[in-house]
Amino acid sequence: MEIAVIGAGASGIFAALAAARPGNRVTLYDHNAEIGKKLLVTGSSRCNISNALVGAESYTCADEGWIRVFFQAYPPERLRNLLNTLGIPIYNTADGWYYPLSNSAQSVVEILKADLHAVGVELALSTQVVDLRRAEGGFALRFPSGEPARERFFDKVVLAAGGKAYPALGSRGELFPCLSRLGHSVVPLVPALGPLSLSLGKFQALQGLRFDVGTAVYAGSQRLGSSFGNVIFTAKGLNGPGVMNISHLAARQGAENLRLELDFSEAFGSAFSESALKHIGSTDPQNFLNRFFSPKASRFFLEYAGYGKEKAQWDKSAAQRLTAALRHVSLPILGTRSFDESQLSAGGVPVSEVRPDTCESTRVPGLYLVGETLDVVGPCGGYNLHFAFTSGTLAGSHLAELAGGL
Ligand SMILES: Cc1cc2nc3c(=O)[nH]c(=O)nc-3n(C[C@H](O)[C@H](O)[C@H](O)COP(=O)(O)OP(=O)(O)OC[C@H]3O[C@@H](n4cnc5c(N)ncnc54)[C@H](O)[C@@H]3O)c2cc1C
Repeated sequence: MEIAVIGAGASGIFAALAAARPGNRVTLYDHNAEIGKKLLVTGSSRCNISNALVGAESYTCADEGWIRVFFQAYPPERLRNLLNTLGIPIYNTADGWYYPLSNSAQSVVEILKADLHAVGVELALSTQVVDLRRAEGGFALRFPSGEPARERFFDKVVLAAGGKAYPALGSRGELFPCLSRLGHSVVPLVPALGPLSLSLGKFQALQGLRFDVGTAVYAGSQRLGSSFGNVIFTAKGLNGPGVMNISHLAARQGAENLRLELDFSEAFGSAFSESALKHIGSTDPQNFLNRFFSPKASRFFLEYAGYGKEKAQWDKSAAQRLTAALRHVSLPILGTRSFDESQLSAGGVPVSEVRPDTCESTRVPGLYLVGETLDVVGPCGGYNLHFAFTSGTLAGSHLAELAGGL
């Protein structure tokens, strides 16, 4: 079979590697001059490649049943074994984030490039695909007028062209209109895993400080979703996993009537309120808060909870007032940031339009949709590369099986 894989990013590389078996001729296209341009910047160039907690419940998509079958078809441990087999040994940090032993995204890309050569994948780099249509029992790919061949035919196509995040690295969403013409739905793409712009008010004083906090996005009284993680106060709002993981919920909703709730005590669990009561009479509020926060943050929280500069009494009502104030901080959301500042895009083709065990389109047989082309959002921590690698591998493995059956 002649197979085209469009996009030499995380999902396309793994699809090509799995599909390249005797009987298949695989061509991997990318308009970048090199493979894996986005992979190179992942995990601050260390490539946070997977997570020990990856599972169906980690992802947001339209169909929970779909993602369960997806991970049954290719369990997380199997992907981590595959990485080892491909020459990428990995380790995980105490919080479960997996990295290559080399701690180098550049090494990962060079190893994958060697793997692609070893299995005979033809690399068609610096080649943009401008159109994809059905033709002659398969598909025709069209290239810009300057290319030597303006059109080429394939039996099967894997579309691994990504979403719209970080467009400078190659994914601009330009093939979604082709998917619509072929009969797929396309959920509008919005930035995900990005900073949140907030009306900080007094909280501007915390600029530059980091906290591990509970976060939740509300539209009016409706709680859209929540997370827990590190955040940093910036001039415009908040950045860091604690807000990035839920930014897509705000982006999908539009900024109307949205707010972010923060719980500064969540990291300490019940220890915070228990300790607050235990130390009544033996300390003052500033001293108590200094156990958990920097003096700058403690001073701010005291003022925020209504204590002036005078030495405050640390009694039961003070303890309750402070703990309640830190548990329910509410800040208006002004909006999310652009695709240029977001690690992912939410939206794309709904998972219900591809088979969970092969990622083959149910609307266009012979077409496979993988990676960020699908409307699946994982949190920070290696989940999105894991999804991209797994979906690519499922598609490629199915194409390898088909070749075996010819
Ligand atoms: C700064 C940053 C850091 C990140 N860090 C992490 C991390 O540490 N861990 C993690 O799990 N995830 C991380 N992510 C997310 C992760 O990179 C993506 O989930 C993943 O790359 C998606 O893979 P993909 O193959 O679907 O798309 P992409 O990696 O975007 O690949 C798509 C490819 O298709 C090519 N292409 C697009 N259109 C065409 C066309 N018309 N013709 C030819 N080629 C085309 C593009 O050039 C691109 O190379 C990060 C993202 C960013 C932006």
